[in-house]
Amino acid sequence: MSQHTEAIREALKAGPTRGEWRASGGFNEWTVSSDHSVAGKPCISGRQYVASCFRVSKKDTPEYAAMFKANAEYIAACNPVNVAALLAERDALLEALQHMQWCSACAEGLWGDCDEGRTALAAIAKAQA
Ligand SMILES: [Zn+2]
Repeated sequence: MSQHTEAIREALKAGPTRGEWRASGGFNEWTVSSDHSVAGKPCISGRQYVASCFRVSKKDTPEYAAMFKANAEYIAACNPVNVAALLAERDALLEALQHMQWCSACAEGLWGDCDEGRTALAAIAKAQA
């Protein structure tokens, strides 16, 4: 595992708010929130607050406004569901590459002649979907 993925795996284990996250604009901030509360329980009323980002500032220009909106949307897109899926996809692709690197039977049969080769092809297809 790389340093980067290890840091992300540790952050996921720490227990961030589960579920999909959504960014929405308020009066002077962007709010990132989830339908889930503590330990993945559904919120009874409203949404679970995750983060907020500036929406306006002293430098209230369109460029800053676009950047602040992009920050909130980026945080929402990097929710635990998407990050865990990305890590799983990355791990499957790494396994596929490692197998394809040494399996001569696979290379001769275009990776369809052994179970690991077929798994590797499936991982590549899933990553492209
Ligand atoms: Zn193979």
